[in-house]
Amino acid sequence: MSHIEAPDPKPRHRPSRGPRTEMPARPAEERARDFDEVNLGYSEEQAIAEAERCLQCKNATCIEGCPVNIDIKSFIGHIINREYAEGVAVLKERNALPAVCGRVCPQEEQCEASCVLGKKGEPVAIGRLERWLGDFDLACDLEGRCKPEVGEDTGFKVAVVGSGPAGLACAGELRRFGHAVTVFESLHALGGVLTYGIPEFRLPKSIVQAEIEMLAIMGVEFVKDIVVGATYTVDELMTEQGYDAVFVGNGAGLPVFLGIPGENLNGVYSANEFLTRVNLMKGYEFPKADTPVWRGRKVAVIGGGNVAMDAARTAKRLGAEEVFLVYRRSEEEMPARREEVHHAREEGIEFKMLCSPSEVVGKDGWATGLVTTRMELGEPDDSGRRAPVCVMDSEFTIDCDTVIVAVGTRANPLLPKTTPDLELTSRGYIVANDHGATSKPGVFAGGDIVTGSATVILAMGAGKRSAQAIDRWLAGTSR
Ligand SMILES: Cc1cc2nc3c(=O)[nH]c(=O)nc-3n(C[C@H](O)[C@H](O)[C@H](O)COP(=O)(O)OP(=O)(O)OC[C@H]3O[C@@H](n4cnc5c(N)ncnc54)[C@H](O)[C@@H]3O)c2cc1C
Repeated sequence: MSHIEAPDPKPRHRPSRGPRTEMPARPAEERARDFDEVNLGYSEEQAIAEAERCLQCKNATCIEGCPVNIDIKSFIGHIINREYAEGVAVLKERNALPAVCGRVCPQEEQCEASCVLGKKGEPVAIGRLERWLGDFDLACDLEGRCKPEVGEDTGFKVAVVGSGPAGLACAGELRRFGHAVTVFESLHALGGVLTYGIPEFRLPKSIVQAEIEMLAIMGVEFVKDIVVGATYTVDELMTEQGYDAVFVGNGAGLPVFLGIPGENLNGVYSANEFLTRVNLMKGYEFPKADTPVWRGRKVAVIGGGNVAMDAARTAKRLGAEEVFLVYRRSEEEMPARREEVHHAREEGIEFKMLCSPSEVVGKDGWATGLVTTRMELGEPDDSGRRAPVCVMDSEFTIDCDTVIVAVGTRANPLLPKTTPDLELTSRGYIVANDHGATSKPGVFAGGDIVTGSATVILAMGAGKRSAQAIDRWLAGTSR
């Protein structure tokens, strides 16, 4: 970041508890036409102003609100004191990917929800400050970047399956213990959902790549285009290839459909396929890129989570005239981050709340409409949210040429099928304890493949805890 100059002499902490410092963002009408990042990030001045809102509480409850217990008070204190490199080091102690998490973590439900300032006013914008420090680190040349220390070589070899946040966090931590690590990734690009799912306008891929580059510098070996469970089985890795332990962080990327009539019509996508074509295969640059993507004129996206929001905003950027977000509950129950909902609305996505799809209708093999029924909210269901109930005779059809189904994903059965002694839940997820240990000795697992679709930071936390457990397990084995 070129606007950051040499630190001033340490100023005294002058707390000011005014409103949160707004994050500058590009105007909606401009950004909805391209894939460049929406949020622009704080300037140094804005970061300091926001940091100075922090009360530096004696009992910093925000730390408990963070799933990986980052010492938030300390890194904000370093920003206040203009000790940016020290602030980065505090972040990296617990989180290998601060520039990523600063952008995509649901801080409003985690650390910021526990900020004392939030009780009466607005909490400190912890996520924005994390992003700012993460970007500060990435803007330094390689020499100047914070490089976690690598442990002395132990002679042990660990295989990591999958290069998403769980696999990356596990690999980084294993290197700190001095174990040799190879990450096997089935795709031709690294990063998991960070690369193929979350769009460029929310998380630039150059940031993900720069974070991965640091892991490579720490000695993590990456091997792409290898499907564990097909190219090699887990047992082959542990016997023929000589790995002493295996961490499985292969995510839960198998799309789920609604099972309604018409879902096999042309123009109907899973969000996973749609976003992969656009993000990973750069379909929006076709024919410059090899993979085409169908550009709908009127697009209905089914779902209410971050994935649905990403798909809707991506469709808009591909040139759709109208994009509808169809969700069977109300906006209050939508699991998507508030910021994403706000940005989607600003960009002209039309919200059709309390609408449940029942059929995709079509002509000559192509989708032409989505039949939906109006819903109202009844009693709370198992999730604690009020359950949607059909309104009699309220069926109507949304005129559209594209339907994107974003109602969730599940575990891919390929790896477990070839690893028969791995215990699974009834829904096909790997059973693992809090430290990632599975039913198979030497095999650990974490991230979405254990919890089902969750968040980046939870996947990273699981990867890191598993690395610590692997280290303890290896210490108890003889070579
Ligand atoms: C579109 C979208 C938007 C999201 N937005 C947010 C957000 O804003 N904030 C947030 O916190 N979370 C978000 N999430 C959720 C978050 O990205 C996931 O919870 C997280 O990525 C899970 O990490 P993981 O490492 O377990 O799995 P993944 O990220 O899925 O990575 C798994 C990796 O393993 C590879 N793999 C799979 N099978 C094999 C195999 N057999 N052999 C080798 N490699 C294999 C996959 O190709 C992939 O690269 C979003 C998810 C999606 C899909």
